[in-house]
Amino acid sequence: MASSSHHEGFGGRPLWAEIDLDALAYNVQALKGQASGAALAAVVKANAYGHGAIAIARAVLEAGAERLAVICVDEGEQLRRAGLGAPILVMGHSPISDARRIVQLRLTPTVNSQEMAVALAAAASEEGVNQPIHLKLDSGLSRYGLLPQELISLAESIQHLSPLVVEGLFTHFASADEEDKSFVLQQFKLFLEVAERLPWISIRHVSNTASLLDMPEISLDLVRPGIGIYGCYPSRWVNKGLKLRPVFTLKSRIARLTRLLPGQCVSYGRTWTAPRLSLIALVMCGYGDGLPRSLSNRGSVLVRGQRAPIVGRVCMDMCMADVTDIPNVAVDDEVVLIGRQEEGNIPVEEIAELCDTINYEILCGIAARVPRVYMREGRVVGSETLVQGLSAVGVGAS
Ligand SMILES: *Cc1c(COP(=O)(O)O)cnc(C)c1O
Repeated sequence: MASSSHHEGFGGRPLWAEIDLDALAYNVQALKGQASGAALAAVVKANAYGHGAIAIARAVLEAGAERLAVICVDEGEQLRRAGLGAPILVMGHSPISDARRIVQLRLTPTVNSQEMAVALAAAASEEGVNQPIHLKLDSGLSRYGLLPQELISLAESIQHLSPLVVEGLFTHFASADEEDKSFVLQQFKLFLEVAERLPWISIRHVSNTASLLDMPEISLDLVRPGIGIYGCYPSRWVNKGLKLRPVFTLKSRIARLTRLLPGQCVSYGRTWTAPRLSLIALVMCGYGDGLPRSLSNRGSVLVRGQRAPIVGRVCMDMCMADVTDIPNVAVDDEVVLIGRQEEGNIPVEEIAELCDTINYEILCGIAARVPRVYMREGRVVGSETLVQGLSAVGVGAS
């Protein structure tokens, strides 16, 4: 395990997220191997599921991803400004007023109206470029996308609207992470029926992480894994035969140790009372950092590889852990809130379960004020803090 002493001072507070770029590269390659020859668009929306979009985008491309996928134009612009040149698919809705910006940024938007197509074509012809777009079929998620008839008529009406190039056709599954795949197959069948009507659209894609793990045979031309590249499984039901490696670890250090007498209470509302002479560690991480408040009196942290229960309410900026049973505990000892430490492990899924949510939400919720520290072979290769931007020593050329 890497020594962490040189992380102190990141952001001025002993709290940081360690992002394992070796694990990330391993996951990208493992998922590509699963995709039977399809290209891979790494989904880096929502600040790369909390991991830091710019560093992650560089690292996944270096690891073999061909494309990036985001939800909105701002996320695409952030990556372009950081110098990333790969194709970037904007999978969400973009307003017509963003047409010129999309063209100038060389983004690949998802188009769902004739008006948007016309606006993009006009801007692209002024800029003198071809403008690739994708179309999204709503095959049963009932969220974003066009219904089969709408999609086919839009596609046919813009097929020759140069310099627009209808490059891709995709859909998104409603329940790929569940055991019962019958609705996935129903959606896939509908997708193929529409795709057959539009054989001139070259890139067809449907797979998120769950369907890539469970149904690799439907990878088509491109796969779009998100959670999997971060080393997490979309649900407990998916096939875990492909071993993914968690990328994210949330770390801190004990800021203070306090001895409490039996009967003394900890934190707001005095919800925890020391049952015995207790040793309480102060940890500088709270719900303002993305540590859910519902872990109050339920979660735990790792110190010296052992579990210490979180006692009292998690505050905005701090929480407290009962370290009475951990021998030799000392101020400045490393604390792991999410991830592994020696023989100990607090997977993000455990936290999600305690909070009645999914691993995605916990990772996306890690706040911007938590510094991201990028690791390769156990060494720091870059970092990003609230004030510093990404300093990417050897994170890899884009
Ligand atoms: C977020 C998203 C993905 C990635 O999903 P994972 O479950 O994280 O693999 C793929 N496609 C679309 C359209 C998405 O919005």
